[in-house]
Formats: sequence, C-alpha cells, structure tokens
Amino acid sequence: MSIQFQIEATRGPARLGKLTTAHGVIETPVFMPVGTVATVKGVSQDVLEELGVQILLGNTYHLYLRPGVDVVRRMGGLHGFMSWNRPTLTDSGGFQVFSLNELRKVTEEGVTFRSHLDGSSHVFTPESAMAAQIGLGADIIMAFDECTEYPAERERARASMELTVRWAARSKTYFDEHKDEVPWRSSRFSVLSSQNDGSSFTTENWEPGTGNCPTQALFGIVQGGMDRELRRESALRTVEIGFPGYAIGGLSVGEPREVTHEIVASTLEHLPEDKPRYLMGVGTPDEIAVYAKMGVDMMDCVLPTRAARHGLLFTSEGKISIKQARFAQDEGPLDPACSCRVCSRYSRAYLRHLYAANELLAQVLNSIHNLSFYLDTMRRVRAEMAGYDIHPPKSKV
Ligand SMILES: [Zn+2]
Repeated sequence: MSIQFQIEATRGPARLGKLTTAHGVIETPVFMPVGTVATVKGVSQDVLEELGVQILLGNTYHLYLRPGVDVVRRMGGLHGFMSWNRPTLTDSGGFQVFSLNELRKVTEEGVTFRSHLDGSSHVFTPESAMAAQIGLGADIIMAFDECTEYPAERERARASMELTVRWAARSKTYFDEHKDEVPWRSSRFSVLSSQNDGSSFTTENWEPGTGNCPTQALFGIVQGGMDRELRRESALRTVEIGFPGYAIGGLSVGEPREVTHEIVASTLEHLPEDKPRYLMGVGTPDEIAVYAKMGVDMMDCVLPTRAARHGLLFTSEGKISIKQARFAQDEGPLDPACSCRVCSRYSRAYLRHLYAANELLAQVLNSIHNLSFYLDTMRRVRAEMAGYDIHPPKSKV
C-alpha cells in the first residue's frame, strides 16, 4: 500500500479530497512549495509548519549532486535529513537535466549530463532515477521522463512522448522490485508523524512492523508537448501501465497561457477520476485556483519564492514590486487582507527599505508572505469546495 485517495466533495470536474501518505494526510487541492535542495530558500521548517505547508517538494537532480543520495539516505531520507515530518515529494530529475544541461545526451538507455556544479559527467536512467528517489525517501516519487522542449515538431514530440512511456514502464518495474529499500520503511522512524494539530497520524492498516507498513507512491507523468492527441495517447498508455497517481508534465516551458490551459483541460479528461492528479511546475495564484477547479489535485511552483527574492509580491490587490519609490513612506501592511506574520507586523516602507538595502531579511520576509498568499489561495478554494456535493467514498489506491 502506498497512498489512499478519497474524494469528499465534487462539483463538475472540481474535487475536494484527502490524500493519505506514509507521513500524513494532505487536504487537496494542495499547493506544494518547492524546497529545491532540501530547503525552501530563506524559510525555515518551523515557519513552513506555521504557514500550514502540507507537503514539500525536493529536486532529485540537485540532491543527487549535493549532498548526494547516500548522505540523505543514512539520515532517514529527506524527512530525517531536513527534520520535516510531514509528507514530501521528489521529482524524477528529468526536468533539471533538460533545463540545466545544454550538453546532455539522450539515448534509449537514459540521459548523460554534466553537473552544473563542477562539470562532472553523470547518467540518469529510469532505474538510477528510481534508486535515487527511493534513497531520498519522499512519500511520493515520479517516474523518469523526458520533458519535451517547446516549441517541438510533432514527430519530435511523438518520439519524446513514446520514450517517456517506455521509461515509465521501466521506472515502475524497478520501483516494484526495490520499494522496500526506502530508508524509513524498516523502522518505526517517523512513519507515524505529528500533524498540524500535534496529534498523531494513524491509519488502521498502517502499523509499522505488521507487513502493512506503507511504501512510497510512484506517479506516472503524461507528456506529449502541446499536441492534444499526443497528450491523450500519453495519458492512456501511462494509465495502462498503472500508477497510484498521475502528473501532467512538460508545461510552463514557454508556451502561451491559453495553450497551457487547453492542454491541461484536454489531458485531465483522460486521467482516472479516482486517482490524484498533479500539475507540475505551474502557476500564478489566479492560475492555481483555476486549475484546482478544473480538477487538478496537486500543484507546485517556484514562482512564489523566486518572485519574492526579486521583490515581487502577490497581494489581494494584485502583484506589486516592493522596490518602487512609492512605498518608501508607506506605513500600511504589505497586504491588508493577509494575516501572515509579515503583514501583521511590518510596513511596506520597512520591507521596501530592506529590499533596497539588499538585506537578507528582505528575501526571508518576502518569501514568507508569498508562500502564505499561495497557501491561503488554496485554502479558500478548498473552503469553497467544502460546500460542494458530498461524493460517496470511491475506490482507494
Ligand atoms: Zn502576508
């Protein structure tokens, strides 16, 4: 058993759900902050807990290069290493290999690439990407895929999609044979973890040591470029392989937003209703709310933290650039409608000063507010969905 997914209310394609993982329950739709190298830049774990972060994402490519999978594995996986007892997810490493490595070489076997840190040569195959993710020990891990570049000719997008389907099957085979090797599986260590309210998480069938101890969950990834027909075929063939959850990858790679929207909508139609759906790497606050209502259950994006480091802040009154001179004497809070620890304490004038003076605290405070804004956006969406029709509990993964 890896995860359980229960849909609690629906209206049209939108769904409110609960995703139970080895390290806790996630209310969906959920926004997942990105902790690239086992840290959300500038924001400590206790603050992430206070913000109500339910699940954190780590990047396999970065963690594999530094500090290395063995270091993380020996410390109990990501949970133990970064002292984070709530759920985690790692990507397959594919996206970074494709976005950070112009000299990569792709073959049927896998991808040869050079480290962006020291130029050393490495190979990721579906098998080695699985081994890395099992060692990192996230609750949800991703099949190794090729992120098709944009724009791409149809034949190129087809070949890439088909390679991803073959890699998905190899990923699953390797995972099924090695899933018992996850660092936390053999012990009681952190499997029963504390939840937001401090209470202990337990599910009846998930007692460590009884043989029913949960494993990681491996998700498949749908590719196919910006071609609806290729996306349909990718979805059907990936579902045929069979995963407890499905991701839509290869979007937000430079295409216009209408295209992203259209591809998401047309891909969702071909994904099973009773499995969680994860839209990778997408979204402004407005967009994540829209995608949630289209039936996406999970989303991640570096935008809130990356924008924050550039002084770009999302507020209920729109996006603002805190560096602007008009805020120099502004005594008001960053966002009057936000109750985060930044907005309830500091003025726009102070935040503008920190940014202008290039102070570290500017990045910290800006990141906390933007994350809070994203998480609040999703909380509002979930609160609205709680008023939808109650859906009879359906199949479990
Ligand atoms: Zn705020």
